[in-house]
Amino acid sequence: MVASIYLCLLTATTDPGIVPGRCWEGYVNGILPGKYKNVNKKAKVSYPQVLNPNSPMLFQFKFCETCFIFRPPRTSHCNVCNNCVLKFDHHCIWLGTCIGKRNYRYFNLFIWHLTIMIFILTAMCITNLSVEHRMVQERNPEESRLAVWKQVASSYPLSYICGLVAVAGSIFVFGLTGFHAYITSLGLTTQEKLAKKYVRYPWSPFTYASWRENWTKVLLWKAKA
Ligand SMILES: [Zn+2]
Ligand SMILES: [Zn+2]
Repeated sequence: MVASIYLCLLTATTDPGIVPGRCWEGYVNGILPGKYKNVNKKAKVSYPQVLNPNSPMLFQFKFCETCFIFRPPRTSHCNVCNNCVLKFDHHCIWLGTCIGKRNYRYFNLFIWHLTIMIFILTAMCITNLSVEHRMVQERNPEESRLAVWKQVASSYPLSYICGLVAVAGSIFVFGLTGFHAYITSLGLTTQEKLAKKYVRYPWSPFTYASWRENWTKVLLWKAKA
C-alpha cells in the first residue's frame, strides 16, 4: 500500500520527458528563426535499428507548431499539458500527467503494485463474504442460497460494497496492467500500439531482440536529467 502510494506520487511528480518549447521573436508571424530557415521539414533523419544496425530506419522530421521545435522520433505533443513529450506513451487523466520517457518505469511499477493490492483486497472480500455466507447458511439450513446471500448483504453492506468495488476495479486494473505488460514486451508505447505502428515488418527500430531485454530497458534504464 505504501509502495503503491509512493510510486503513484513518483509517477505524478516526475518530469515525463518534456521537450522545452521556444518562443522566438516573430513567432506570432510564423517566421522561423535563422538557424531553421534552411531546414527542409520534409527531410528524413535516419535512426539506427537496435535489431539491425546496418539498415537504419528513416524518420521524417515533424515540426510542432505549438512548441516551435522539431520533434525527435517517438515524441508527441500532449494537448492537455500543451507540450511535447519524449517517448510519449499517453496522458493519464487519473494522475494528471503525461506518461513518457522518464516516468514510464514508475507508472509500470505502480500499476503492478496496484494489481497486487486489488488482488489481495478482492480475495479478502470474497473470503470474508463466503465465510459469512456459510455461517448464515449453517444457522438457517432451510433457506435458499439466494436468500442467504441477501441476508449477508443486509448484515454486512460494507463488505458487499467493498467486494463489488474491488471486483469492478480489478477488471479495469488487470486489463490495464495486462495491456502494458504486452506492449512493454513488444517494446512499443501505447500510442504506437493504438496507431498500429510497427505491427508488421519492418518492426520498431526501438525494440530489442527479446521481451526480456525490452523489460530490462524499461525497468533498469537510468533516466538522464
Ligand atoms: Zn509540441
Ligand atoms: Zn499530458
